[in-house]
Amino acid sequence: MAKASPWQRVDEFVPKTTFTAQDLQLIGSRPGATDYAPHTSVIALVGVDRQMVREIGRFDSVGRHAERNFAQDLEARWGEYVRSYYREVNGIPPEQAQGKHRFEFLAKITRGPCGECASALLATRARVRAAAARAYPNVTVDLAIRSTGVYGKVGYTYNDPARGPIGNEPQNPRAGQFQIWRLLQQGISVGILTLDDPATQAVRDTLDGRRQWYIGTVNRELRDLLTAIKNKTVTF
Ligand SMILES: [Zn+2]
Repeated sequence: MAKASPWQRVDEFVPKTTFTAQDLQLIGSRPGATDYAPHTSVIALVGVDRQMVREIGRFDSVGRHAERNFAQDLEARWGEYVRSYYREVNGIPPEQAQGKHRFEFLAKITRGPCGECASALLATRARVRAAAARAYPNVTVDLAIRSTGVYGKVGYTYNDPARGPIGNEPQNPRAGQFQIWRLLQQGISVGILTLDDPATQAVRDTLDGRRQWYIGTVNRELRDLLTAIKNKTVTF
């Protein structure tokens, strides 16, 4: 029996990998409780020409944030994803493909990217784009993220080479907001990981009400930030 292709049509996509309820416990069950998720997780996918998609896998914060583990995998394996797409979908190697094809790598993140992770994602995209341009001139590579919210760790400071230190303060995560602005400025698509996403839907109803409410709150704050950046009513 032929092995099923890991590529699926976007409109028929059914995720095999989903977040767990533990991944989405962004806050404790009550004030002062420490039963929130101690880690960040990423579920990554790759899409082609907005028609075909496949899962890459799941990455966790082990020693360093999950986004950086995803970036490392992308840098090592992007060529494998490009080649396997052409072989499995078109039946030819990518060197023989006609026309232009756009690959988009998407990272769904249970929190928001910190400054170091945003830097790693941007550097990885630049290196992958350069390598792809050399190997497959008809292929472009884009990067997108979907995060629940903004990186909000209180006391965190990001040292921007041009602007100097930008800090997170209680109720005002400027450093985290700056990363979203920065990624958008650099052409990375930023979306919101809600509890309606295919990667979260299955466990939505197992989260208690307080945690559902909190995710809705950080989702809304990110949505407001994206609107403010688009309308240029927030500046850095
Ligand atoms: Zn990080």
